[in-house]
Amino acid sequence: MHRPRKRFGQNFLHDQHVLDCIISAADFQKDDRILEIGPGPGALTSRLLATGLPVLAVEIDRDLGAALEAREEKKLDVKIGDVLRLDWAELLQAPPYKLIANLPYNISSQVLFKVLDHRHAFRRLVLMFQKEVGERLMAEEGSRNYGILTALIQPWFQIDRVVKVPPGAFHPPPKVDSVVLCLEPLTEPRLALHDEALYRKVVRGAFAQRRKTLRNSLLGSGWSAEVIDKAFVETGIDPRRRGETLKIEEFGALANLLSSYDLGEQ
Ligand code: SAM
Repeated sequence: MHRPRKRFGQNFLHDQHVLDCIISAADFQKDDRILEIGPGPGALTSRLLATGLPVLAVEIDRDLGAALEAREEKKLDVKIGDVLRLDWAELLQAPPYKLIANLPYNISSQVLFKVLDHRHAFRRLVLMFQKEVGERLMAEEGSRNYGILTALIQPWFQIDRVVKVPPGAFHPPPKVDSVVLCLEPLTEPRLALHDEALYRKVVRGAFAQRRKTLRNSLLGSGWSAEVIDKAFVETGIDPRRRGETLKIEEFGALANLLSSYDLGEQ
């Protein structure tokens, strides 16, 4: 019997209703391929395999990975390793995938950033999050939960809540509540960015010090006063506002303008 390892965020799901909700939200089609991160002892994996679709599962825990391999399931391809250290371009060999996972809480943001870098390889994501992370993903501007994660993910994904999950759905029960979300790539993204890296820099800069004004936050992120003041005038955004009051579209406008300047000469 495997003893759950805390350092790998092992809270195993046993609630059949939650598993039903995850499978139903995945809305599997006959040509889907599935990526599961952290299959663990395989409660969700068994449900995924029951669809008859191919499943690629990445597990960091060697013992659990080896036990899954020993099942010799024809449609199951197990990779043992840290999903954050793998080369995703190599991992995602036959896109598009549906990423279905009961993610360990400590890596969920990093997984989302990886997904962002490879978002064209995904058809849909159905993922378990700590409740607070779910709230950040779904937040509206101006709210307490609105932050970097919101502004980086919402331009590209429609996000819907699938089901709330209490601690008792897991063994051992975590100390926090959870939520399953469904993220679907938008056919028409909310932003048309000239330079995504620069957009991320603006967003990260704007939220780096939440109590500072937008102007001071961006000054602290390396832009000169001349450049950012010009961008504020041209976008009509008040530099005294705080980052969390900006709509996604306003971050986009600011980033596109900044990328249109020849920063090398400033
Ligand atoms: N899917 C199983 C379930 O629903 O019961 C297990 C979920 S448990 C919350 C998270 C799983 O992710 C564990 O099996 C853990 O070993 C694995 N894991 C943790 N960090 C990982 C990483 N960096 N890469 C791959 N798997 C990881």
